[in-house]
Amino acid sequence: MAKGDLIIISGPSGAGKGTLVRGLLARVPRSWCSVSATTRPPRPDEREGVDYYFLTPEEFERRERAGEFLETAEVHGRRYGTLRGPVEERIRDGFRVILEIDPQGAMQVRRNAGESTLVFVRAPSEEDLRRRLAKRGSETPEQVETRMRTAERELQLVGDYDFVVINDDVRRATDELVRIVESLPPKEQDPSNGHPA
Ligand code: 5GP
Repeated sequence: MAKGDLIIISGPSGAGKGTLVRGLLARVPRSWCSVSATTRPPRPDEREGVDYYFLTPEEFERRERAGEFLETAEVHGRRYGTLRGPVEERIRDGFRVILEIDPQGAMQVRRNAGESTLVFVRAPSEEDLRRRLAKRGSETPEQVETRMRTAERELQLVGDYDFVVINDDVRRATDELVRIVESLPPKEQDPSNGHPA
């Protein structure tokens, strides 16, 4: 697998990864973002098969035992996982595949799937992150505090990432993310294919 095939974007909940990834997909040709499976319930604006595949814990476990996941993690008491089949298919078809997953999953993919590029998206400050989480309104105050504690833990892993993008301004941060992805060698120019650019 070439370095530009699999791009993992992670970072604290509320840092704005989703918005940046949507911008990236709109601007980078032949890019595709994997739809994860989760056992958490959908938020009001989320759609099955678009935002997530919403599974029961039993169905999640069954698919895990069947080896259908590239990686899985437990975040805030719920299971999340990347489905292996669609990811491998898109990579074969020459797409730049984006995974928006948590750092536990990012490290598993790096270990198991060979070459990948890890990008960490963070909010400019702790206060800013707290404000964004509160504004989103989908979490109770206790859940916001849990996410803040998770964010603090996740920030300690930032040294394992290839790039860090600070989401201080959506347009600027999206531009930076696009530049990072476009700077990665595309499949046909990968030197291992014998045709360096
Ligand atoms: P949320 O419930 O807010 O949508 O996501 C919670 C956390 O789970 C986020 O950090 C998100 O990136 C992560 N996540 C979403 N899908 C996956 C996945 O398939 N695998 C892993 N490891 N994390 C995921």
